[in-house]
Amino acid sequence: MTRLPIILLALLSIQAIAAQEISYALAPIKVAEDTYVVRGNDAEINTINGGNIANTGFIATSKCTIVFDTGPSKLYGQELLKAIKNISSKPICLVLNSHFHPDHFLGNAAFEKSSLKALGKTTQQIGRHGEHFRSNYYEALGIWMRDTELIPPTEITKKQFEIGGHQLSILPFSGHSGADLVLFDKTTSVLFAGDLVFHNRAPATAHTPGIAWWLNDLEKLKLLNTETIVPGHGPVAHATEAISSTSTYLTWLDQLMKKSATEGLEILDIIETDIPEYLDNQKMIRYEISRSAIHLYPKYEDAIFE
Ligand SMILES: [Zn+2]
Repeated sequence: MTRLPIILLALLSIQAIAAQEISYALAPIKVAEDTYVVRGNDAEINTINGGNIANTGFIATSKCTIVFDTGPSKLYGQELLKAIKNISSKPICLVLNSHFHPDHFLGNAAFEKSSLKALGKTTQQIGRHGEHFRSNYYEALGIWMRDTELIPPTEITKKQFEIGGHQLSILPFSGHSGADLVLFDKTTSVLFAGDLVFHNRAPATAHTPGIAWWLNDLEKLKLLNTETIVPGHGPVAHATEAISSTSTYLTWLDQLMKKSATEGLEILDIIETDIPEYLDNQKMIRYEISRSAIHLYPKYEDAIFE
């Protein structure tokens, strides 16, 4: 045997071992009657967490199960399905994608296509950007992404319905990504907020139509008076606490950017800005400030000259 096939064989077996061993080890937490959350890591995507950075959840009703977000890869979706099966033997009747960011929907590849639903604009955004996100994730996460095809959802038309004794509403917002689906379970008073709410984790602002817009959405969420919020990122909490975590950070960021633009400061000044103590509990804050400085600050600079 020549040397090349030996190297190839060695590489293939390393890959086979890696493929066998990786697992997201998902552990659903019960947060209300029939209602479970699978917590993501409060971290950047990397080859250790396999892109598992967002929360997902499900409502296992007496009739069938509703899934909220599918995670970053087919493997995640498959493991989520397994975790659901350990809790309920009922079929999956609806799988919602909260918005078009890849940490929330690439796990669609593990689910029945006809069950995948999202807001109309999200289906367009996934059509436009999904393939690009998928190839970025393959590059960053390698083996974790194996067999992850892009399976887009279709538009959800029914906005209010009852399933297995749960009164559910689909509420459309836009402050985080231009189309943000929120699922409200009136029966348990649990709100699956997607990335409109980040709790004790600095919000990602890359696709917000504007922070004022986002803050306005948060005011509307407050009016729902829900007991519990499942945020897109960060721990599950009482609604008031989770919403105020997001709005406190966004208000600070908005003021920082406005003031910096007025004073003619540079992007680097934003990246290196002093963080006030009351934001100490916001995980990943320096990382998100840097990202916002690059994506968002130029808009504030432009606004000065309008
Ligand atoms: Zn997210």
